[in-house]
Amino acid sequence: MAKEFICIVCPRGCHVSVDDLGKITGNQCKRGETYVINEMTNPKRVLTTTVKTIFPEVPRASVKTKEAIPKGLIYQAMALINQVVIEKEMHIGEVIIPNILNTGVDVVLTKEIRRKEER
Ligand code: SF4
Repeated sequence: MAKEFICIVCPRGCHVSVDDLGKITGNQCKRGETYVINEMTNPKRVLTTTVKTIFPEVPRASVKTKEAIPKGLIYQAMALINQVVIEKEMHIGEVIIPNILNTGVDVVLTKEIRRKEER
């Protein structure tokens, strides 16, 4: 039975099919073929979530994996990220967890963390 995918590599969102013989159709470019092969062999996702901080004005800060990680590691990665508590001011792009689960991918901050200025 043919498998259907929606390619998420670019906004066109091509509907790509793979038939029983492995023939790939519906993709408008080569990247769609690569996407489908990866989805069938080692699907990956960028993980976006939040971490706790000690600052009441910014109780949670958004983070993401800098690149996609294997889908099968998402829950383990979430468990590690949930243990993090940020205790200092940090900037966007700073590494929260390096090389998460030995994937070679860092988890980075996507929000500035600054204390409120004292008045
Ligand atoms: S197959 Fe190519 S054109 Fe279609 S969504 Fe994927 S990347 Fe975009």
